[in-house]
Amino acid sequence: QDCKDILSAGEMEALLAGLADQVIAVHKDCGNLALVGIQRRGVDIARRLKDIIDARTGCVLPLGRLDINLYRDDWTSLDVQPTISQTDIPFAIEGREILLVDDVLFTGRTIRAALEAILDFGRPRKVELLVLVDRGNRELPIEANFVGERVDTHRGEHVNVYLSERDGEDRVCLVA
Ligand code: 5GP
Ligand code: MG
Repeated sequence: QDCKDILSAGEMEALLAGLADQVIAVHKDCGNLALVGIQRRGVDIARRLKDIIDARTGCVLPLGRLDINLYRDDWTSLDVQPTISQTDIPFAIEGREILLVDDVLFTGRTIRAALEAILDFGRPRKVELLVLVDRGNRELPIEANFVGERVDTHRGEHVNVYLSERDGEDRVCLVA
């Protein structure tokens, strides 16, 4: 299957370092910041960001995890219901500044579900979103605060995200 290169391993490393810098610039005092990764690769990316930010600031960012399953039998309908299958938020949400982290932002439904789940836990002071790739095609008014790479895609295309800890290599490519 032909997969058109979007990010090489070196480009991904530089991008993550740059994103970590942006987060540090906004959250100069990271004492109140916590990361929440979204299932699988969002969690992997959140862990990498945490490692970079912790090393650069001396903070020890709390890291949580949300598992959200989307049933996309019908890609044309807004009825598609994301379901929260498992959550692991080992810190108090109350008053916290939460940075949601995911690999790819598409329609926005996953983030809508993630926000609902987080707000069920308590009242954060602020929630922001960081994604490695924004592939457009939003169906809800949701945007990311920090974007690694913007990629123009059609609905039927797919962005493959490979991460070394899970897939043996760092690479992003587009399957048309
Ligand atoms: P959304 O809910 O915004 O439609 O889709 C975002 C969620 O679905 C993310 O958790 C992301 O992992 C996954 N996703 C949607 N489109 C793609 C894609 O093209 N590539 C990858 N790797 N994940 C996608
Ligand atoms: Mg996902």
